[in-house]
Amino acid sequence: MRGAVVTVAAALAVTGCTSATTGGSSAPTSGHTGAASSPSASTPGSQASTSSQPIDVSKVVVRGDRRSDAAKLATAAVADLERYWGRQLPAVYGSAFTPIKAYYSVDTKAGRRSPSVCGDVTGNAYYCYEDGAIAWDSTGLLTDMRSAYGDIAPQVIMAHEFGHAVQHRFGYRGKPVVQELQADCFAGAWLHHAIDDKVVAASSETPTQAAAAILAVKDPVGEDPRSQEAHGNGFDRVNSFQTGYDDGLKACKAYTSEEPVVTELPFTSYTDAASGGNLPYESAMQSGAYDLDDYWEHTYPQVTNGQQWKPMGKLTPFVTRKPATCGDETVTDAVAYYCPSDDSIGWNDDVTREIYRETGDFGPIVLLAAQYGKAALSRSGKPLGDDAADRGVCYAGAYSADVILHNRPQTSSFTMSPGDLDEAIQALLMVGGSDGFDLIRAYRKGALDGPKDCAGAKVS
Ligand SMILES: [Zn+2]
Repeated sequence: MRGAVVTVAAALAVTGCTSATTGGSSAPTSGHTGAASSPSASTPGSQASTSSQPIDVSKVVVRGDRRSDAAKLATAAVADLERYWGRQLPAVYGSAFTPIKAYYSVDTKAGRRSPSVCGDVTGNAYYCYEDGAIAWDSTGLLTDMRSAYGDIAPQVIMAHEFGHAVQHRFGYRGKPVVQELQADCFAGAWLHHAIDDKVVAASSETPTQAAAAILAVKDPVGEDPRSQEAHGNGFDRVNSFQTGYDDGLKACKAYTSEEPVVTELPFTSYTDAASGGNLPYESAMQSGAYDLDDYWEHTYPQVTNGQQWKPMGKLTPFVTRKPATCGDETVTDAVAYYCPSDDSIGWNDDVTREIYRETGDFGPIVLLAAQYGKAALSRSGKPLGDDAADRGVCYAGAYSADVILHNRPQTSSFTMSPGDLDEAIQALLMVGGSDGFDLIRAYRKGALDGPKDCAGAKVS
């Protein structure tokens, strides 16, 4: 959001294809207390992993580090990617797949040299068009990504780079940012196959961890999407990744004819760039609630055939050592909740402050927006069932799009800053546990389709 200047130390460095942003905050997929809603059925780590089928890696020649865990995971992934694209490239694009010329697994921590043609791979991974090779920093980038997001992280990075090799083979022509988003889409499609065909050891958290890994390699906030360097912001990248996961390669192929929505925005003012676009925490929560009431004053009549919205009277932040109550129940593990019995919204101020520190101002606002969404459902007589969290988050997506589009110019002074949508995705991953992937799907639906179907058949 745009507002008063606060200092945000975020040293962001991105070069080449898949380097992670450094100094930016990570998006842990577990370890946070509770969901923003009804407690999630699965506790992170409690789900049994399915074991994977061993992949024949004998045909893949990898030069350099083959011993690190990240290198082994990357090697297994590219071995399967060769098989996968060997079938899919003829099927989807009608062209034969020619194998990758070489793989370089560079142990940058031991000072090993990058391949000569495409240059330094430190902190990075790339497909090199000039010599047709894929190279990765095994002990830097891939190992760091594995520590942060699990075994799937180096593998989805390989799937993204392999996507560029595929684009080279069918002759991609289009904007650089769409090229990157299509590679993410390919990576999502591959992941779905890899989980279904037990190529990777997967648990219920795997898709969420993969999405978090994709989010971690987003552009620095404020990148101009027209730039040659642009890869897409977190929302766009995760959107493309999930499109591939849900809709498969045909949907990715369509990226060349019908471009995906690109929401990445350059900063429009120097103050915005200096502040990272963040309001201070207190004003973010206060003005967020105020703006959400304004949003619902406009939107509630539309989704309820003309009923009026009554402002949310009771907002009750609480702290971990003094939990809130809803009716007879104590709210123990929710980050934020809507309580139907007294029509109130509350949030754990300790946790939302931490989310603010990790993500920025829009992270906690989105969690608040999801509770307003549940209030809208409940007030209009809809039951708050198991899917209420997804539906609330769908409304939060619709609210975000409304802010981006300036749909309430007379009554709202809120403007979206570059990075706000990424903060939203990151906050959903932080609170969602293994449900993070579903929450993002619901959020995308609201953001891309508006509020009309958030109470409808299926939102995630
Ligand atoms: Zn790329």
